[in-house]
Amino acid sequence: MLELREGNKEAPSADRPKGSPADEEREEASKAILCRKCETTISEHRHRFAADGESDIRAFANPHGLLREVVTLRKAWSLELESWASAEFTWFPGYVWRVASCKSCGTLLGWRFESEGEKSPSEFFGLLTASLSGL
Ligand SMILES: [Zn+2]
Repeated sequence: MLELREGNKEAPSADRPKGSPADEEREEASKAILCRKCETTISEHRHRFAADGESDIRAFANPHGLLREVVTLRKAWSLELESWASAEFTWFPGYVWRVASCKSCGTLLGWRFESEGEKSPSEFFGLLTASLSGL
């Protein structure tokens, strides 16, 4: 009887087989990127890509000299987009930008970059790492 009780002491989840590396990669890819303030899901890790061919995280100085770090994503959602777009001080040549805020809480999260011509992708998002969690 004692032995049986000992056996039952193990938590059911303790002997669950560990995920294979492929499983872990899949889990990593579907991990959510959230609005830091209200935790709305904005994107997933699988959508990260290097917009300039170098890195999916870039730091840029804004016109005031302030350094902003953005993660570039092919897809993002739950964003409220400004109706106007601008080409001024664009960080990605050939792209105009449009301000993107969290649809739930209104926090400025970054920008959508839209191609003016034949550039591919035709649009992507550059979101402020400081305003996101789950990165
Ligand atoms: Zn939010």
